[in-house]
Amino acid sequence: MTTIFLGAPGVGKGTQAVLLREHVGWVHVSTGDLLRAARRDDTKLGRRAQSFMDAGDLVPDELILDLVREHLASLDPGASILFDGFPRTLPQAEALDGVLEELGRQVNQVLLLDGDDDELVKRLSGRRSCPNCGAVYNVHWSPPEEEGRCDRCGADLVQREDDAPDTVRRRLDVYRELTEPLIGFYRESGREPAVVDGIQSMEEVHQAVLESLGMEVDCIPKTAETGE
Ligand code: AMP
Repeated sequence: MTTIFLGAPGVGKGTQAVLLREHVGWVHVSTGDLLRAARRDDTKLGRRAQSFMDAGDLVPDELILDLVREHLASLDPGASILFDGFPRTLPQAEALDGVLEELGRQVNQVLLLDGDDDELVKRLSGRRSCPNCGAVYNVHWSPPEEEGRCDRCGADLVQREDDAPDTVRRRLDVYRELTEPLIGFYRESGREPAVVDGIQSMEEVHQAVLESLGMEVDCIPKTAETGE
């Protein structure tokens, strides 16, 4: 099973993908996470991606496609995969179909998390994360007990460079221009995206996601760590 999560930055794709990973065991493939890991490891790819990411622009398709091909080759061929933040352009979506075909797979379902821009800007610019243990907070909805400090490990929290308000606006513009057309691409090729309202509580979105995927609605696991 191969599923794609479409949706603007900040709408909660990462959070919901982590819940699905914890809940139904799907493999979560986030190109944003893979790129951030490449930057932390200071690889050639990480260094090439840095300026695009910091400006809120997309990393060039060929770099992303190499990254995804390499990552897919490392996965269990029978795994159910959930793509989060990929594909983000029409060339990426077309290339993904080809890559999956070579692997005897296809895109089985496309899910669109929907959200209003003002809400997304507020969400993203309020996000803080712990560079030490990966915990994620939001200064508006889920602040740490002590401002700026991780509840779990006490490290100083940081704001992702690309979550600064101007960069967030840029990321949303890029989404509308380059990624939103994928809705039409999947619709026209008979893979109509299922739409879920992303501006509800994390639990409500999770239930709606499970329902739209035809899965049994259940309670969410308490251990889930959530990213974007
Ligand atoms: P994300 O965590 O998915 O919001 O991604 C953070 C940043 O990584 C994006 O703003 C882009 O600069 C880059 N990025 C992630 N995925 C892709 C992709 N599929 N294509 C191009 N750039 C990407």
